[in-house]
Amino acid sequence: MTVPYKHEPFTDFSIEEHVQQFEIALKQVKSELGKDYDLVIGGEKVTTDEKIVSVNPSNKSEVVGTVSKANKELAEKAMQVADKTFQTWKKWDPKVRADILFKAAAIVRRRKHEFSAYLVYEAGKPWNEADADTAEAIDFLEYYGRQMIELAKGYPIESRKIENNRLAYIPLGVGVVISPWNFAFAIMAGMTSAALVAGNTVLLKPASTTPVVAAKFIEVLEEAGLPAGVVNYIPGSGSEVGDYLVDHPKTRFISFTGSREVGVRIYERAAKVHEGQIWLKRVVAEMGGKDTIIVDDQADLDLAAEAIVKSAFGFSGQKCSACSRAVIHQDVYDDVLHRAILLTKKLTVGDPTERTFMGPVNDQAAYDKVMSYIEIGKEEGTLVAGGNGDNSKGYFIEPTIFAGVDENARLMKEEIFGPVVAFCKAKDFDHALAVANNTDYGLTGAVITNNRAHIEKAKEDFHVGNLYFNRGCTGAIVGYHPFGGFNMSGTDSKAGGPDYLLLFTQAKLLSEQL
Ligand code: NAP
Repeated sequence: MTVPYKHEPFTDFSIEEHVQQFEIALKQVKSELGKDYDLVIGGEKVTTDEKIVSVNPSNKSEVVGTVSKANKELAEKAMQVADKTFQTWKKWDPKVRADILFKAAAIVRRRKHEFSAYLVYEAGKPWNEADADTAEAIDFLEYYGRQMIELAKGYPIESRKIENNRLAYIPLGVGVVISPWNFAFAIMAGMTSAALVAGNTVLLKPASTTPVVAAKFIEVLEEAGLPAGVVNYIPGSGSEVGDYLVDHPKTRFISFTGSREVGVRIYERAAKVHEGQIWLKRVVAEMGGKDTIIVDDQADLDLAAEAIVKSAFGFSGQKCSACSRAVIHQDVYDDVLHRAILLTKKLTVGDPTERTFMGPVNDQAAYDKVMSYIEIGKEEGTLVAGGNGDNSKGYFIEPTIFAGVDENARLMKEEIFGPVVAFCKAKDFDHALAVANNTDYGLTGAVITNNRAHIEKAKEDFHVGNLYFNRGCTGAIVGYHPFGGFNMSGTDSKAGGPDYLLLFTQAKLLSEQL
């Protein structure tokens, strides 16, 4: 029996020793900034003339690393290598594949603060958010390793006197893994490790703003004993390398996490069968969210305000699960809004190396997008907190609350992906549920209530993949809260859950007449 896994604990930064250790890691990583990173194809390092320059979003002039950039020719080379390597890798004992993940987890655990420090510099994550991202990466490695050991046993099916039957789960082939920048370590490592432990080979295209932390992970996989060619590291432009690999006839599956726009594009392109292609591609696409916290009239209002503020502004609202709509029963609306404003005004924004609550948004494009929604918000509601941005050095935006927003306003419908939350008044609990469901997305949601009947009603009627009660709507933990959304939030793959690995396998029935 595999030993049950308890998730990696978060670092307690109220302990001075932990603070000192993290400061040492930040110093160490700062001294390493600006290094060059190569592509890795079939275990070989490839340097290109064209580069992706990863910069610190808190300090635009600071280069985190310069990364070689794949083009179509190199993507093709990586595809050939991955395709060839699949013929051997698929036959490796699943337990040995799992052992490689366990070793990788151990290496990351030993270098935990170093990885988190890279996330502070490259993704602009505050300490606790960076620490949680690294912990989640460790969890994915540990969890998928254990899940693979279980899955390798197959599912029991019936046999009869005349025959012996078995259902085996075999890998698919070459997978293209396309990851986002917002969980630059955890999601990238989780998608990659799930695919490889199931026996597939991988072409990893990380987000162009966070390729360095992915390069560091590739080093870890190599050190953990992963054979050359199983994971090929090919950062490059989404539209060039991404499209090329999505269209490629040898691509067996695409595992994508990112925006709705790109997810839909991948889904459409992957549906086309190209010359020489002998399968229908599988697409796992996890996309955006427009996540709501409902506050009922019978509720702990301090808990409600805290849940909204933490879920809206943690990592500057740049989580697919971030609360961007607070839908409040009219009887407690003013009270919850007032408490949320007070909490928001206490939050600090700035360079996260200095232990601020919020760091920057991801880049100039993110800054422009969020600031444009703040302008829209001024038309659609009343600005009651924040509203200002400063991109002179890094991309900083204040935590921003708009009150009195209509349920059909753009602020209530479109994913902003920044520190902006819209407050909307509901007539009663049914109305609150209707507003919460009034979106194309369906990722996370939370209900703050002490009314048991309303909890039960929400369980039935609040249509999201991850629904929480009397807590915020962010912070899913591997193994505890399998994660994935409905509707335009994606294919509901439930990362970190017991079904996830099935997506990277196909079931083969073996029936022997006796
Ligand atoms: P994004 O712009 O869609 O980018 C995601 C990845 O797709 C990046 O690696 C990007 O590469 C690549 N890409 C871009 N164009 C492509 C194309 N034509 N073909 C193939 N790949 C392409 O999303 P993001 O800004 O990184 O991430 C934020 C979004 O992700 C938000 O919408 C958020 O809600 C969502 N998200 C969802 C989940 C979830 O579990 N549901 C989790 C995290 C984030 P480049 O960087 O080179 O453009």
